[in-house]
Amino acid sequence: MNVTVCKFGGTSLADGNNIKRAADILLSEPARRFAVVSAPGKRYSDDIKVTDLLYASYKESRETGRGGAAFERIRRRFLSIVDELGLHFDITPILDRTEKEIAESKSADFAASRGEYLNARIMAALLGWEFVDAKDIIFFDEKGAFDEKKSYPLIEARLAKAQRAVVPGFYGTGADGEIKTFSRGGSDISGSIVARAVNAELYENWTDVSGFLACDPRIVKNPEKIEVISFKELRELSYMGANVLHAEAIFPVRKGDIPIKIKNTFRPEDAGTLILPSKKYTPHGSIVTGIAGKKDFTVIFLEKSLMNSELGFARRALSILEKEHINFEHMPSGIDTLSLVIESRYLEGGVLDRLIEEMKEALSPDYIRVSENIALVATVGHGMARSIGTSARLFTALSEAGVNVRMIDQGSSELNIIVGIDNDDYEKGVRAIYREFFEKTARA
Ligand code: ASP
Repeated sequence: MNVTVCKFGGTSLADGNNIKRAADILLSEPARRFAVVSAPGKRYSDDIKVTDLLYASYKESRETGRGGAAFERIRRRFLSIVDELGLHFDITPILDRTEKEIAESKSADFAASRGEYLNARIMAALLGWEFVDAKDIIFFDEKGAFDEKKSYPLIEARLAKAQRAVVPGFYGTGADGEIKTFSRGGSDISGSIVARAVNAELYENWTDVSGFLACDPRIVKNPEKIEVISFKELRELSYMGANVLHAEAIFPVRKGDIPIKIKNTFRPEDAGTLILPSKKYTPHGSIVTGIAGKKDFTVIFLEKSLMNSELGFARRALSILEKEHINFEHMPSGIDTLSLVIESRYLEGGVLDRLIEEMKEALSPDYIRVSENIALVATVGHGMARSIGTSARLFTALSEAGVNVRMIDQGSSELNIIVGIDNDDYEKGVRAIYREFFEKTARA
């Protein structure tokens, strides 16, 4: 039997009406057998997410031994959800116990996890499905990473016993036996893990937008929707996807070759975006799938004659970064040149000067230059490898828009071209590339 695992985000479950809507979606398709739920999110723009209230309540309980004003707000929210749903579910004793447990808990993680826990209890009661607690099936190892060896068999065995079940997202059990959460937005990861464990046909991620757009709508008005995208493309566009899907959520399903579908709870009739594993992905004619980018990078450019024959040059450069605990984003290189592209926030407070001194000493470059305030723009699409003249079009578009290209990196996958441009040119650059590939000519 086909199985679809559905994850619903916080906005999709923010109040009773929305939870009802999500329940109807689950019931409208028999394959939708397992639901993974977030905590109630914002109902309006300056509302507070239940998870944030739980962190606040944890803090208050450290000082007063009680859940305090924050917990009272949480209590009211859950009581009104149950009320709006007209549900015969006595949540008061559960809320009383939760307040006590938060006051006694050893870490904020336990408190934070209760939004998902309570929402899953409500959803299970509403649907008449089984409630399966994430603490019994999702485990972390000593390093705090998801323990797949331990978790997958447990999830599979437990859910095989349930016809239909609701699982709270965002948390599991740590190596010390206490509740532990993923990073914020982590219910996306929980959903992906459950989908992989039950070998689902599809992982549906229900949110409040109808999928990914080809470009940031704050920069380009009404950009095209992306109907199909590969895992690899999405990864390259991760700057763009970050607020729709947690960046780590693709890994569990990707290993199991399970597609993800991003769907809009408030417009279920919209097609959404289908994210496919490379095996199942056939390029669909367009050259470019999407454009994404981010400001505030620093490029350290190193030049040294015969760098190509100097053993260990790049390793020594990278070990300096490693010693300082600095990630690098890209490392374009030439025969005698090497550039390191780093997020500027890592280099504040004198770190940059220290790095340069260390590099001069360890690498003796002929020349070292630093460019700050650089924005990166990634133009991504499997179609780029097949079509001649893509980069010519891209660079012509940028030059016609008066944008100076400071750095180029064409990844080794031929899937993307990344350009470094001045922060001030960022919006102009993105618009020029979008116009060239999405508006000017036929897309193929
Ligand atoms: N409720 C958690 C958060 O606000 C996790 C999630 O919604 O995915 O980050």
